[in-house]
Amino acid sequence: SDDDDSGTTASGGAAATTTTGGGGGSSATSGKIALLLPENQTARYESQDRPLFEAKVRELCPDCEVIYSNAEQDASQQQQQADAAITNGARVLVLDPVDGRAAAAIATRAKQSDIGVIAYDRAIENAEIDYYISFDNARVGELQATALVEKLREDGRSGDIVMINGAPTDPNAALFKRGAHSVFDTAEGIRVGKEYDTPDWTPARAQTEMEQAITALGRDGFVGVYAANDGTAGGAIAAMRSNGIDPSTRPVTGQDAELAGIQRIVAGDQYMTIYKAIKPEAENAAQLAVDLLGGNTDSNLVNQTVNNGTTDVPSVILDPVSVTADNIRDTVVRDGFWTVDQICTSA
Ligand code: BGC
Repeated sequence: SDDDDSGTTASGGAAATTTTGGGGGSSATSGKIALLLPENQTARYESQDRPLFEAKVRELCPDCEVIYSNAEQDASQQQQQADAAITNGARVLVLDPVDGRAAAAIATRAKQSDIGVIAYDRAIENAEIDYYISFDNARVGELQATALVEKLREDGRSGDIVMINGAPTDPNAALFKRGAHSVFDTAEGIRVGKEYDTPDWTPARAQTEMEQAITALGRDGFVGVYAANDGTAGGAIAAMRSNGIDPSTRPVTGQDAELAGIQRIVAGDQYMTIYKAIKPEAENAAQLAVDLLGGNTDSNLVNQTVNNGTTDVPSVILDPVSVTADNIRDTVVRDGFWTVDQICTSA
């Protein structure tokens, strides 16, 4: 891929130029910001996070430059991409880590060179960083599990469910799982029959896990599926189909409100997803990055602190929203995330 280290120019001009802004802060008028995203199998990163972030930086600081890299699920590649960005003069890293623990080394190296660090969507654990921006991720898991349990209750069904969790290296995956378990573990008549972590969040891996679950529990041995995101939901649904199971008879959860996920909900193949408004996430991250570039470490966007094992990180935490067929119009469509036309094209 030509994404690695793209957008770089010759070194020099590493320091940001700033003007004094209002309220005691200052905002940068030029400088380099690195956006380091973790993977490209999940649709959001290349189609939403990246363009929304870049556009907002352009608006806030037309002479700033974004150095973009995608690590393609590889933590050591991400480390190299961060090193390259720093060598190329990045003064702020906006890092969505492949591996939340391994990313501490990236943050520590950056801090030694007085480079700003923002944890984007996923936490950077056990390191000094400037900001964290994400959604309430334990709440994501709770919403997914609550929707599944309520649907099963409505349908008068009880029994085993299958849990397909995300990547063990992703701190969010642990939060989704914990939030979901807090609901399942106390839901009467519901038992987690089989549970898997999905390295790298790979949909094909999720499909294999679901195949194994079907083999172990039997085709009629489970009543629903907790899939941590829409990619893994797609894998689980494919496995059901190839085993002759109609996915509309087993509610499946998801996350990201991906176009494919929303289309499966409309078609009845997936029960729900979680809508996380990526626009405010990406745009607020761009604002924080431009602020940091200008030396402002006291953003008024911050709405809470989140401890990352080392420090209470000033954080911007956004609210996730549960989406089923009943509220697609009032959520993703109303927000302009997807239009009705996009959803209804030859799905
Ligand atoms: C993100 C999800 C995404 C998953 C896989 C998580 O950290 O919060 O939106 O589906 O990673 O990339």
